[in-house]
Amino acid sequence: MTALLTIDNVSVSYGKAEAVRNVSIAVEAGQVVTVIGPNGAGKTTLLNTAIGLLPCQGRILFNGEDVTRLETESRIEMGFGLVPERRELFAEMSVYDNLLLGAYSRKDGTAAAKRSIDDVFDRFPKLKERRAQHAGTLSGGERQMLALGRALMSKPTLLMLDEPSLGLAPLIVKEIFRIIPSLRDLGVSILLIEQNARSALETANYGYVMETGEIVRQGPAGELIHDPQLIATYLGGHGDAHN
Ligand code: ATP
Repeated sequence: MTALLTIDNVSVSYGKAEAVRNVSIAVEAGQVVTVIGPNGAGKTTLLNTAIGLLPCQGRILFNGEDVTRLETESRIEMGFGLVPERRELFAEMSVYDNLLLGAYSRKDGTAAAKRSIDDVFDRFPKLKERRAQHAGTLSGGERQMLALGRALMSKPTLLMLDEPSLGLAPLIVKEIFRIIPSLRDLGVSILLIEQNARSALETANYGYVMETGEIVRQGPAGELIHDPQLIATYLGGHGDAHN
């Protein structure tokens, strides 16, 4: 079976410093796949490379097609979506206009984009309530919902999320991790980068552990969450994955 996304033996450098080394990752259609690991492991670099913001060695395939040399714009048109760590909303613009801008790469017209906004509002009723509010005045959780909603506006088949739980209160984090698998109903597969290893592994089908630029461990998420070494390093260290 051809994976939706294949990152094949990819290396990325900033000048002489190699941030990602010989990394291979696959996201099958309909799956949530997570990459966990500490600060500076190269996770953000990997996502930015997948969507074409950084050049790399190795290959990136989308539905079996080699996209390694394609521009970011073309990848977005093909179905890539990215919610960056900083969320990068237009602070002075309304919730509604931020969403509308998320549809810029689509070619099916404004009426279709407006219908998609209604779909986003159905999924995130808070955003509907706040449709006229400037994005810059939203709470952290609302901003993350808007960033997610905006990414959905381009109708991605692969959504890459860079630390969606970063800086959010525990209840909001729970809500975000409830929403992520529900996006599969829309035909969206997910590549999730997280430092919140426990929540990520509870949500994902398959997981990779990245340390200093390399994949050091991988497996079904349900197995990784019970791995004693991962429990000690990333999951709270009590030897009981449920506490
Ligand atoms: P975090 O969770 O802190 O975001 P990360 O796993 O996403 O970490 P990256 O942000 O990909 O890690 O960084 C990987 C390495 O590359 C780090 O050593 C970082 O300092 C370096 N790096 C990242 N961006 C740049 C850049 N623009 N120029 C030079 N080095 C960079």
